[in-house]
Amino acid sequence: MSTIVENLNRLQERMQKAAEGAGRPPEKIRLVAVSKTVEPGRIIEAVQAGVKILGENYVQEAQKKILEVGGGVSWHFIGHLQTNKAKYAIRFFDCIHSVDRISLAEELSRIAKPQGKLLPIFLQVHLSGETTKFGAKEEEVFGLAERVSTLEGISVQGLMTMPPYFDNPEDARPYFIKLRRLADRLVALKIPGIAMAELSMGMSNDFEVAIEEGATLIRVGTAIFGPRPAK
Ligand SMILES: *Cc1c(COP(=O)(O)O)cnc(C)c1O
Repeated sequence: MSTIVENLNRLQERMQKAAEGAGRPPEKIRLVAVSKTVEPGRIIEAVQAGVKILGENYVQEAQKKILEVGGGVSWHFIGHLQTNKAKYAIRFFDCIHSVDRISLAEELSRIAKPQGKLLPIFLQVHLSGETTKFGAKEEEVFGLAERVSTLEGISVQGLMTMPPYFDNPEDARPYFIKLRRLADRLVALKIPGIAMAELSMGMSNDFEVAIEEGATLIRVGTAIFGPRPAK
């Protein structure tokens, strides 16, 4: 058995165990296999082993790979999206996890609408203490959600966040709880068209904790494909 297949088997087992431990149905948790820097041949191996969703961070890197890997899988954009790349993101991706500002949401809407598309998106939230500079601040999310709810062509599925890396995954738990509570507060506002059915959170090092706190999409790269080359 190849390493990728073995890694995926082990990952599925751990996902299932975490879900059951938390009393959640395992089928509610979907895997986004993060394939940034991974060669198409190895991505195809993962797809043949059952991966249904792939995650990429860079539009340009992903374009070639998407054409090579072919259909039958769904591609999610999880990296920082520059507004001037929105049209390519829409052409190549089925879902955008990283909408963190109104200008980007407006541009996605402007392009998706005349194509008759309804693009699923996540609002990316920057929770205090995070090292990444991307994501809307907690207090900005409410305004962002209200504005986005009026835009055609895009449809908010939920929230996404990326806590700092911790050696101890327990340290990430407060971030996941915060994101879930933020989603609950948004639901309570009953903004039309804002569902919050999904939470995109948890990576190789902390996905079990994320599942325990309500993740519906986990984004896992290293635990499937091995370590990435240092930048
Ligand atoms: C790279 C990346 C991941 C996957 O990280 P791993 O630690 O390799 O699992 C998840 N989410 C985002 C936004 C990423 O950039």
